[in-house]
Amino acid sequence: MPVPPAASPDPAHAPLTGLPGVGPRVAEKLAARGIATLQDLWLLLPRQYEDRTRLTPIRALQAGVAAQVEGVVEAVERGFRYRPMLRVAIGDDSNATLVLRFFHFRAAQVAQFAPGTRVRCYGAPRLGQHGLEIVHPSYRVLGDHDAAELGDRLDPVYPSIEGIGAATLRKLIGHALDQLPAADALELLPADCQRELRLPGLREALLTMHRPPRDADVAALVAGTHPAQRRLALEELLAHHFSLRRQRIALQAQAASVLGGQALAGRLRASLPFALTGAQQRVFEQVRADLAKPVPMLRLVQGDVGSGKTVVAALAAMVAVEGGHQAALMAPTELLAEQHMANLRAWLEPLGIRLAWLAGKVTGRARAAALEQVADGTAQVVVGTHALMQEGVVFNDLALAIVDEQHRFGVHQRLALRDKGGEGGRVPHQLVMTATPIPRTLAMAAYADLDVSAIDELPPGRTPVQTVVLGAQRRPELIERIRAACADGRQAYWVCTIIDESDEIVAQAAQSTFELLSGALPELRVGFVHGRMKAAEKQAAMRAFKAGELDLLVATTVIEVGVDVSNASLMIVENAERLGLAQLHQLRGRVGRGSAASTCVLLYQPPLSQMARQRLETMRETSDGFVIAERDLELRGPGELLGTRQTGLATFRVADLARDADLLPRVQCIGEDLQREAPDVPDRLVERWIGGAARYASA
Ligand code: ADP
Ligand code: MG
Repeated sequence: MPVPPAASPDPAHAPLTGLPGVGPRVAEKLAARGIATLQDLWLLLPRQYEDRTRLTPIRALQAGVAAQVEGVVEAVERGFRYRPMLRVAIGDDSNATLVLRFFHFRAAQVAQFAPGTRVRCYGAPRLGQHGLEIVHPSYRVLGDHDAAELGDRLDPVYPSIEGIGAATLRKLIGHALDQLPAADALELLPADCQRELRLPGLREALLTMHRPPRDADVAALVAGTHPAQRRLALEELLAHHFSLRRQRIALQAQAASVLGGQALAGRLRASLPFALTGAQQRVFEQVRADLAKPVPMLRLVQGDVGSGKTVVAALAAMVAVEGGHQAALMAPTELLAEQHMANLRAWLEPLGIRLAWLAGKVTGRARAAALEQVADGTAQVVVGTHALMQEGVVFNDLALAIVDEQHRFGVHQRLALRDKGGEGGRVPHQLVMTATPIPRTLAMAAYADLDVSAIDELPPGRTPVQTVVLGAQRRPELIERIRAACADGRQAYWVCTIIDESDEIVAQAAQSTFELLSGALPELRVGFVHGRMKAAEKQAAMRAFKAGELDLLVATTVIEVGVDVSNASLMIVENAERLGLAQLHQLRGRVGRGSAASTCVLLYQPPLSQMARQRLETMRETSDGFVIAERDLELRGPGELLGTRQTGLATFRVADLARDADLLPRVQCIGEDLQREAPDVPDRLVERWIGGAARYASA
């Protein structure tokens, strides 16, 4: 069917209803996935390819490797044992038989498979009871006169879209691609940069991705390292670069309170029982310089567990308070928020600072009173959970919003607190603190809208945690170790982990460990926390441990973030091979917070995979969170390191920050060139790649 010419002069923005087969219903389904224009379809890239350009002899099939075969039906069997089932045996010249197995089928389908019929099918075989079989292959019955030509390019497999069949989607994208403009009209990147990087132009790259020729390097395509993908990734990274830049410029166009007072912060410093580390001082100076500007600060402070971020936050809050404004400190869990509240009370109340507490649990009259103090300015520093961001919480004059453990919050939440701004349209300064260090290359791409500081030094007097890696068979020895540590007046954690299983199963495993340890250590007070407990119970147990009323805490990974019990000196992690480096590092950070020598025992279940071995080795070698983050990035890539949900990063279509990390410096410099020489290009790139998703940027 001929495709009608697009209404708009730029086909990129042509609505999809111009395509054959797209009525309002289909358009609506596509729109639900953010696909509204031809360009959106061009950029909807395959996630896999199927090679139907060749036939594989049945004898050469391998379990798990998808292939296309052609054979003649030898036998058909219909069964009803447990559920309806159809088995069709086909054979070919290689003198081997393959079973096609169907659980859902129509009578007409059964009739198709008369013995002697020639069938061509595609799928990944698996080992069944009687040799290889393919369950629900895609197949085609060949007629006697069928020329049965093989395809000349690989078939793309697109992400599925609810309500639109795979074949329909493939056809739609085909139609959209037929309207791809000529290379010059489509291209936005300078020609010399492509030549230099030896990458194809956009048109060629898109066509290669959607319609790879039969001799295309499929392995590279699947791995995402094909020049066509690199080319698209480069352009996409550039688009994100410009989008973050735009966000930053928009933020800097807003006004913020100029905060310059030094006296209160000075008094706090003088009253602390310790001197600031060099790193704390440096970072506080950076923060102070930001606060003194009339534009909102947006600074990320990375600092390893125990590096002392809280006191830097408290000092910053003093600068805001001295100027007559309010500061808020938000933590992701009630327990962490409570810990901050306790610290800040101890530090600030002696200076005459008024604090308010706002968490989900605060209700009724207490809540009304807190809200009033926040609204009328009686409260100078407000501490709490995300309850701080709820509607109905009105600040008198919020000049500084501090967010702890940022990776637990998304960008949206960060912005919500920003919107609680001060008077006269001023926006609060923002200080974001995280204990999950992000490698520099990644921070550049992920947080181009933030300034980044690092507290890269621990307070003095900490004895490094000794890390021991042991096979699970050595578990009984640990009971003696716990006994000894607790007899010494110390406390211990025992963390049970079973990843990939339901909370239920983890809780059960932890429960039996809890019972075992309670039985083996009758003289100790043993507590238990797991994710399925009610929040109040969980907190009660954590609080008891913190108060020294428990000697041993058996827990699932719920204790991971930020909890500070300086008397704990022994951490045992079971099934450590299943955890990522960031998580292991967080867990280990629960000990070694006091002056006592601490130990972290990582128990593993043999055999260890290569990857798990490297992770445990890294844990043994270093306790530097930044080194660990770099290793983590190498070992597993940023997808997991920075879950989209956690960082609020938009997802990439093609780019992968770890795989394409070498492109990032290029992105910086091409970005600067473009900005200077083709100032209309940045907006067009953002529109092309982020388009509707840019909503978050302006949220
Ligand atoms: P984190 O960076 O993990 O949030 P905290 O702010 O909780 O670390 O600090 C950990 C502990 O170290 C706290 O008990 C805190 O009082 C203490 N601390 C912070 N800075 C110093 C310092 N310069 N010297 C000694 N102890 C410090
Ligand atoms: Mg902290």
